[in-house]
Amino acid sequence: MAAYSAAGPLKRTAFQRRALGPKDVAIKLHYCGVCHSDIHTIHGDWGPVQYPQIVGHELAGEVVAVGASAGRFRLGSRVGVGCMVNSCRHCAECDAGFEQFCENGNTQTYGSRDRDGSITQGGYSTFVVVDEDFVIAVPASIDLAEAGPMMCAGITVYSPLRRWNVGPGKRIAVSGLGGLGHMAVKIARAMGAEVTVITTSPDKVQDARRFGATDVIVNSASTDWAKHKRPFDFILDTIPYRYDIDPFIPLLKRDATLCRVGVGKLSEPNAFSQMGLVGARNAIAGSNTGGIRETQEMIDFCALHKIKPVITRIPMSGIDEAWSKIVAKKARYRYVVDMSTSRNTALT
Ligand SMILES: [Zn+2]
Ligand SMILES: [Zn+2]
Repeated sequence: MAAYSAAGPLKRTAFQRRALGPKDVAIKLHYCGVCHSDIHTIHGDWGPVQYPQIVGHELAGEVVAVGASAGRFRLGSRVGVGCMVNSCRHCAECDAGFEQFCENGNTQTYGSRDRDGSITQGGYSTFVVVDEDFVIAVPASIDLAEAGPMMCAGITVYSPLRRWNVGPGKRIAVSGLGGLGHMAVKIARAMGAEVTVITTSPDKVQDARRFGATDVIVNSASTDWAKHKRPFDFILDTIPYRYDIDPFIPLLKRDATLCRVGVGKLSEPNAFSQMGLVGARNAIAGSNTGGIRETQEMIDFCALHKIKPVITRIPMSGIDEAWSKIVAKKARYRYVVDMSTSRNTALT
C-alpha cells in the first residue's frame, strides 16, 4: 500500500524488492504496526517525500529465504525489523552499537536512499529483503502481531528508560498514553520504577492504571500544576506534536530530564521557557529509537516480563481509517495490519 500524495488515500501497488544478497534474508511479513511516524512522513511533516512511498517500520514475519553467507536465521525463523535496515558499520557510533546515530547516516526502513540508489520502502507490504544484521529474533512467547509494535514503539521508549537509569526507587512520568506511552508504562514498571501517566484523555485513566501507573494527571485547562511539587526523577514525553511544555518542567526534581521521543512537524518547533529550566537545573533531551543490540535486549526483556502491546488488528484496506483515528487520539493503543488479509495470492 503506497502513498501517492500527502493527501492520500493509500493505494494497492505492485513493486519489486531487491534480489536476495549473500547477507540478506527475505521475510514474508505477517504483520506491520502503524506508527504516528508513518503519518508524519507521508504528510511531509518531516521533509519532502518521493512518492510513491510505502511506509511502516514495525515489521514482523517469518524468514522465507536466506542468503548464501547469512547464518543468523533459518527458514521459518520468526523475526522483526524496526526503523533501520542498514548503517555504515564502521563509524564510532556503529562500533558502539548506536546504529541509529550512525555518523554517515543510517538507512531507514522507508524513505531513505539505499546503497543502490533506490528509496527504501517500508512494511505496509507482503515481503521485505533485509541484511540479516538488522533483523531481530522474536522470542517464542511473543505473538508476531505483538512483536510488530515493539520494533519502533517498544525500543523508542526502552532506550531512554535505560539511558536515564529508570529503576527501583525512581519516580517517573510518562506523558502521552498512545502506542509509545502505553509500552513505556509497562516497561518502566517492569524495571521497578513508580509511574505516573500524564494524559489529555480522561477516558484513558483506567487503562493507565491497568498498565501499571500508580497515578494519573489529566492534562486540561483546569489542571492545577502547582500542587505537584517536583515529584519526578524523569519524564518520558511521547507527544508527537508541538504543545505547551512549560507546565511540565516544574514537575522535575533538581537535575532531572524531560526526554522527548515524540517528534512534531519540522515547521512547528517547540518553544519553551529558559526561565523554567534554570529553576532547578533541568534538561530537555531527545532520544531516537535504539540500536540493533538494544532492540534485541528490549524484546527479550519484554518476553521475560510478559509485556505486550495492546493491539487492534486491521486489514490493509483499513489503513486510512486507522490513520484518522490515530490523529484523533482514538487508537487503543496500536493498530497492526494483518497481512494475511492483503496478500496477493499470486505471490504467497
Ligand atoms: Zn515509529
Ligand atoms: Zn555508522
